[in-house]
Amino acid sequence: EPGLYIVATPIGNLGDITLRAAEVLRSVAAIACEDTRVTGKLLHHLEIKQRLIRYDDHASEATRDHLLGIAAGEALALVSDAGTPLISDPGYKLVRAARERGIAVTSLPGASAATIALTLSGLPSDRFLFAGFLPNKEKARRDILTELGAVKATLVFYETAPRLADSLAAIAEVLPGREASVARELTKKFEECRTGSPAELIAHYEAHPPKGEIVLLIGPPGETAPGEGVDVDALLRAALETDKAS
Ligand code: SAM
Repeated sequence: EPGLYIVATPIGNLGDITLRAAEVLRSVAAIACEDTRVTGKLLHHLEIKQRLIRYDDHASEATRDHLLGIAAGEALALVSDAGTPLISDPGYKLVRAARERGIAVTSLPGASAATIALTLSGLPSDRFLFAGFLPNKEKARRDILTELGAVKATLVFYETAPRLADSLAAIAEVLPGREASVARELTKKFEECRTGSPAELIAHYEAHPPKGEIVLLIGPPGETAPGEGVDVDALLRAALETDKAS
C-alpha cells in the first residue's frame, strides 16, 4: 500500500525489532533515515537490502517533495537512528506535509526510551509529561524546571551522560523535595534505573560517573522523596490539634 510508514527501531537491543517493522522495512520502495550508516547496520542485521535516503527536519522542501512523491505512489518508511521517529527525532515536518497532501500515514509501534524509563522508575505513571532535552544554558534550564515543576505529572527528559550532573544540580536547586530517577542504557546489557532524592543521585553519580544514554525523570509535586520534606513532628502536632478541637 502506498503511504508513509513511521517505523520504530530498537534503542540498543536488536531483538526489539518487531515482526511487522522487519516486514515493512523489507517491502517498502525506500527508507528515509537520519544516518544511512546507522540504518545500514540495522538492515544488514535483518538481511534487508534497501534504498536509503537521508532525511531530517532541516532538509529542503525539495527533499521533502521528493520523499512525498515516493509515498504518494509507493510505500516509504521513515526511521530514525534509534527508537520511535519524531520523539526528539526528525519526522514531524514530513508527517505534517504528508497529511496536508492526503497521503496515508501509519505508525508502527516499538521502542521509545521515554516510556521504557517511565515503566521502570517506580514514579507515578498515570500522568506524565515528556519534555525532550533540557536546555544547555543554566538559566533556561532553571526556568523550564520551574515552569514544568508546577505541573502535576511525572516529568520525563532525555539526557546525556556529560550533562547529567548539571541537570541533577539544577533539580536539587529548583525542585529540592522531589523524587527523581535516572534510567541508563535501557534494553542494553548494563541497563540501570536508580530512583531517589536529587541529592542522593548527585552523590551516587559523583562516585560513579555515568556512561551511555540516559533518561531523567522527576516525580510529581506532592510525592516527597524518601527522608525529605516530610516534617513528622508538624504532622503529629496538627493531628493532635484537630483532636482537641473536635
Ligand atoms: N527517538 C528516540 C526514542 O524514541 O527513544 C530518542 C532519540 S533522542 C535523539 C536520543 C536520546 O534518547 C538519548 O540522549 C537518551 O536520552 C534517550 N535514549 C535513547 N536510547 C536510550 C537507551 N537505550 N537508554 C536510555 N536512554 C536512551
